[in-house]
Amino acid sequence: MTSEPQYKRVLLKLSGEALMGEQDYGISPDVVKRVAEEIKTVVEMGSQVCLVVGAGNIFRGMTGVASGFDRTSADHMGMLATVMNSLAMQNALEQIGIDTRVQSAFPIASVCEPYIRRKAIRHMEKGRVVVFAAGTGNPFFTTDSAAALRAAEMNCDAIMKGTQVDGVYNADPKLDPNAVKYDTLSYMDVLKNDLKVMDASAISLARENNIPILVFSIHEHGNFANVLKGTGPHTKICD
Ligand code: UDP
Repeated sequence: MTSEPQYKRVLLKLSGEALMGEQDYGISPDVVKRVAEEIKTVVEMGSQVCLVVGAGNIFRGMTGVASGFDRTSADHMGMLATVMNSLAMQNALEQIGIDTRVQSAFPIASVCEPYIRRKAIRHMEKGRVVVFAAGTGNPFFTTDSAAALRAAEMNCDAIMKGTQVDGVYNADPKLDPNAVKYDTLSYMDVLKNDLKVMDASAISLARENNIPILVFSIHEHGNFANVLKGTGPHTKICD
């Protein structure tokens, strides 16, 4: 245990639902503000932070398919929804004094920067937060895969998977009072037991590139920073 961050450069992955709060749909400004404060603490601790946000709070491709949309169009809509969440995070971060750049996997020139790897690294070296929007830019993928891909490209030391609970359990802790939390898991444990942490392609990509995944609750105040210091509750997935 130490008060210094154990990881110099991290990618935070948040599902769209993490930004929804108590609402049934959309973006909760209060939650976005709170998450921005969590990120600010980590930036001020000296870690470099990049971010991938999903879009389950606005639009998921598969939901579109279920209501009759073609998969590729539905996924394009899902990716565009991640841009909305990314802009909301940028806004909240900049309101509290953290310089932030949004880079989109497909160009939306008048709204944000295009994804350029070297530029993203430079931003982080200057203490800016980089939000990677539009997932991988390809349909048939998820923002979990985008998170693992960008973490590998950015040479991140860890993927921080912010969820609603404080780690990975053997059952849903909200439904089963006897659910037990894992302190550590191997990538293969997650894949073999089909644990719902991140999708299988994201886990495989993290495994191939030897990037640990730290699963923790984004809703507990100070927890993002504490997990990076080794003092906050989490589950670590590594080999
Ligand atoms: N998406 C996509 N390609 C990507 C990332 C995302 O097509 O590389 C689309 C897909 O339709 C997905 C939606 O964007 O359902 C939102 O992403 P995701 O479901 O991963 O969001 P989360 O579950 O993390 O909120």
